[in-house]
Amino acid sequence: MAHQRNENFTRRGFRPRKMFDVSDLNIKCCECGAEIKELPFVPDPTRLDKIYCRDCMRKRREIFRRKRQGS
Ligand SMILES: [Zn+2]
Repeated sequence: MAHQRNENFTRRGFRPRKMFDVSDLNIKCCECGAEIKELPFVPDPTRLDKIYCRDCMRKRREIFRRKRQGS
């Protein structure tokens, strides 16, 4: 049983993005207030008020990346 295919998990960024339907949870982006219907991850029920929509998440990621690169 040494032939396990783990490629999907070992290669970062190569994994097809699975979206989770969260429209039942009534989540709103804590930055811009946009309704969030799906997420690329399962939301932590205790942190539903700290979830960002795709746009804001991308913006935050870019800022974060810039911070790490700069200085
Ligand atoms: Zn947002």
